[in-house]
Amino acid sequence: MRVNSKLPHIGTTIFTTMSALAVEHGAVNLGQGFPDFQCDPRLVEALNDAAKAGHNQYPPMAGVPALRERVAEKVSAVYGREYDVASEITITAGATQAIHTAITALVRPGDEVIIFEPVYDSYEPSITMNGGKAVYVTLNAPDYRPDWRQVKASITPRTRAILINTPHNPTATCWPAEDMRALADVLKGTDIVVISDEVYEHMVYDNQRHESVARCPALAERAIVISSFGKTYHVTGWKVAYALAPRELMTEFRKAHQFIVFTVHTPSQHALAAYMAHGTHLTLPAFYQAKRDLFREAVRDVPLAWMPSPGTYFMSAGFRHLDRFREYSDLQFAEHLTREVGVACIPLSAFYREGMETGIVRFCFAKKDETLMDATTKLCQLTRDLRG
Ligand code: PMP
Ligand code: GLN
Repeated sequence: MRVNSKLPHIGTTIFTTMSALAVEHGAVNLGQGFPDFQCDPRLVEALNDAAKAGHNQYPPMAGVPALRERVAEKVSAVYGREYDVASEITITAGATQAIHTAITALVRPGDEVIIFEPVYDSYEPSITMNGGKAVYVTLNAPDYRPDWRQVKASITPRTRAILINTPHNPTATCWPAEDMRALADVLKGTDIVVISDEVYEHMVYDNQRHESVARCPALAERAIVISSFGKTYHVTGWKVAYALAPRELMTEFRKAHQFIVFTVHTPSQHALAAYMAHGTHLTLPAFYQAKRDLFREAVRDVPLAWMPSPGTYFMSAGFRHLDRFREYSDLQFAEHLTREVGVACIPLSAFYREGMETGIVRFCFAKKDETLMDATTKLCQLTRDLRG
């Protein structure tokens, strides 16, 4: 039998591929974005407590009420917008599911969704699986700011949604309030829904603030805002996230949610509800800024063109200025670093359509300080390679 693939252009994700290559070569894995350190032991205890207390059956479809309450309180305190616990907040099985669910709830065959390239790898397949068409707007180096004229020109009567991501994976850029205002202006008078991927909301550095769509009433009233507990509490493997939206939009989101997953792992939700009371998200910017600064300082002598990292836990670097690697694709360079130097990273072309060559690779600094120092020592090998 021949299987007629719905996604013939898609293989295994680059994150899985590079993590496997890192294991094969015993390389330090700064590729796939996940912490190599433990979460707060109090969170593990809370998970244990929840399971022991018998929270092991289906929770309500929208999520455990206590967790939705904590989310509502946090969002109100941080961004000043009130979301109704009963009708405007849904707990999801990770941000990936929330994004897929939002697209499934909204997009009919032939509908268009505007996305920004470089783009997180799950967006386009979710649009395509629903029969929609991804319409690309390019974020250009070096600052990767959106060109709002291009966005405006990309809108057609078929545009159903625009999917944004700030702080941005992989460029580590953060949209200022000015971009949020520009987005609101462009969408004024349309029925276009904003799907806002804000999984790195608490990883914004140098005293800047995260410009959540939830802060901007003109956008929030037409938006599904998504964040992930995996990023915020160092538990990417738990796959628990949340979506916020005004009631009418959330009603549609839940229609899809209930048939995609129905509900999300119950003990984790109780654990997160108990743990959120500690307010540790407030300490996250300082925690990761210290790691970013440590890594940036340590790689100062590594002869790559290091890019700024005002947000997320990623820092990217160019290599095309090095004669020895001028002819390398970013994938070849990432493989070289993994195999020969012992540090795995992600080629930026993975965030572009087929055939794009960036000359840039991405490193994740959500790692123990000793892992970062170990990686840096290895990366210094590059300097010796170039001399030798
Ligand atoms: N969006 C972006 C931009 C991400 O980087 C990630 C994961 N790293 C996700 C969504 C997915 O988050 P989750 O693991 O909660 O599905
Ligand atoms: N989002 C993470 C990254 O960008 C990886 C998640 C995944 O493996 N899909 O590295």
